[in-house]
Amino acid sequence: MSLFGKKEPLICGVCGSETGTPDSKKHKAADGIICHKCFLKAGYTPGMMCFADSIEALKNTIEARAKAEEDFKNAKEGVKNFTPTRTVGNVLHINDDTRQWYVDDGLHLAYVRNFDDLLESWINVSRNETTSTTSGSGVGRAIAGGVIAGPTGAIVGAVTKKDKTSTTVSEIVTITYRVKDVEMNQTIFDISSGQAENIKREFDKMMGTYDTPVIVQESSSADELRKFKQLLDDGTITQDEFNAKKKQLLGL
Ligand SMILES: [Zn+2]
Repeated sequence: MSLFGKKEPLICGVCGSETGTPDSKKHKAADGIICHKCFLKAGYTPGMMCFADSIEALKNTIEARAKAEEDFKNAKEGVKNFTPTRTVGNVLHINDDTRQWYVDDGLHLAYVRNFDDLLESWINVSRNETTSTTSGSGVGRAIAGGVIAGPTGAIVGAVTKKDKTSTTVSEIVTITYRVKDVEMNQTIFDISSGQAENIKREFDKMMGTYDTPVIVQESSSADELRKFKQLLDDGTITQDEFNAKKKQLLGL
């Protein structure tokens, strides 16, 4: 406290500005005070508290958020300015003149890449057969070609019905690719095996391995489920999407 009982200004540990003024509320951090502007920049909203975070952690969060925002802006801008000369399998947009491409699968942020940014790609097909007893009119119609789990996967399959027992063969096709300077592999969902093969062929061409055969890996429901659990843990899919997938894979 200073003379005359007037409060000392409290300095924001992140940006150094004065807090506690009518223009800037202050928020308590673990080892200091931050201003309202920095509080919002760190992703907090009014009513939340940040007293568990150190100034250092808040600084890092603000930096990471700013970088992510910048990446997001650049990615959007890149796609906006991209004119594809052709599109393959609905989701792979290619410009053969600039030798660039991007994938827009409706799930991941789309980034324009160069042909030689692509390091590898592979197709995964998971076939699952479910036999169930039906009473009368075709249960199958609703399943064939229907989308069960929103953006994370489609069932492409045939349904046969004999007497009162029906067998559902569902096929979940994904194509996964890895690009330079990105740690995480990206997976494209919601494609048919035909689309996946076309995309895989284009990817092979970009990597200069034009004549390699398309490799289809069969995997069990358990393998698939493990993969989706990983996606859930990574935050790529939601709990609801995971639950729907689990139900589907286990034929529940
Ligand atoms: Zn501040």
